[in-house]
Amino acid sequence: MDGKKIGLNTICTHVGEVKDEKYKGAISPLYMSTSYAFEDVEVKRYPRYFNTPNQEALCKKIALLEHAESGLIFGSGMAAISTSLMAFLKAGDHVVLQQILYGGTFHLIHEEFNKFGIEYSFTNGWRPEDFEAKIRPNTKVVYIETPSNPLLTVTDLKGVAEVAKKHGIVSMIDNTFASPVNQNPIDFAIDVVIHSATKYMGGHSDILAGAVASSEANINRIYNLAKNFGGSLSDYTVWLLERSLKTMGIRVKAQNENAQRMAEYLNQNENVKNVYYPGLSSHPDHNLAKSQMKGFGGMLSFELQDDLDASQFQKSLQLIKPSMSLAGVESTVLSPALTSHALLGAEERKKQGISDGLIRFSVGIEETEDLITDIEQAMEKVKVARLHLQ
Ligand SMILES: *Cc1c(COP(=O)(O)O)cnc(C)c1O
Repeated sequence: MDGKKIGLNTICTHVGEVKDEKYKGAISPLYMSTSYAFEDVEVKRYPRYFNTPNQEALCKKIALLEHAESGLIFGSGMAAISTSLMAFLKAGDHVVLQQILYGGTFHLIHEEFNKFGIEYSFTNGWRPEDFEAKIRPNTKVVYIETPSNPLLTVTDLKGVAEVAKKHGIVSMIDNTFASPVNQNPIDFAIDVVIHSATKYMGGHSDILAGAVASSEANINRIYNLAKNFGGSLSDYTVWLLERSLKTMGIRVKAQNENAQRMAEYLNQNENVKNVYYPGLSSHPDHNLAKSQMKGFGGMLSFELQDDLDASQFQKSLQLIKPSMSLAGVESTVLSPALTSHALLGAEERKKQGISDGLIRFSVGIEETEDLITDIEQAMEKVKVARLHLQ
């Protein structure tokens, strides 16, 4: 099938399969072999060369989902991020990074880059000018993440891509929070798109994987490093990820819808002080989000009124579970100040606007009414507990 002419859900369901020529089964056969014949064959196959039948097929699906020429899948999101960054950076080079990034990426930069002699700067703002202001003669990469974690701030894709083009450097994005369903950065001239496939691509909280999509030339460059670093994915997980991607379109669209309704509900709830969701017209980046996203995603954050205990509230939830990860079909909450952003320290968190009471909410596919009922009963419990304290 010509992928360019088919839509999202058809790509999810049909593109990038291993055809079962022999038995005509409906799904891809799974090739677990780590050893393939090497005589008289065109391709020398080996799992760490990223070229087993299941890996090659899935890469096609990833590429098409991100409107890219080529794709590569990794053993984790961090393997995809570290390998992609290192493919374009060497000792003496400099990278400009968005001021707030996923915790793991922040640690990679802080803990490893000095060892390799790679210089880095974080921006002081979110606008394209803030990225341009940090560019030096030795800058090779500009790196963004939008919508951001945990405040769902939106970065201007087209603006940042233009800055990168103007200075002849590579632009990279962590597109995990949006997923390919809601945002295709290559359409806005961003060069390299990275995903933690552990999140929306996997979608069932049972797969650790990463993915990169870009031009053929960029993917070749990343691939040359990837086979030396050895972060390839086991074929069983490749096969599971292919299965998960078949439903990604409908899952994420359901999550978009649920998150929008939850954001609106929380926004009018008197026990809630602030809601951060790009789908709300009150969100400062709502118009920018509308111009570059097809849906606003399943992630939102909110703060309870000061007199309500956020940690007590999370413990009182029955359906929505406190959890370290995100983007599963089940709804989860997390305290960024206690978990993902704990290592930043109180001062840096305050600077970034991450309050101690902030709750990040990964909205699943449950019935919206059931999520609301759960939140209401938890709020009532926290209020009763507070009355007893007074
Ligand atoms: C989870 C996550 C990562 C890291 O992915 P892993 O699969 O855990 O290695 C990177 N970026 C974002 C935005 C994430 O949510």
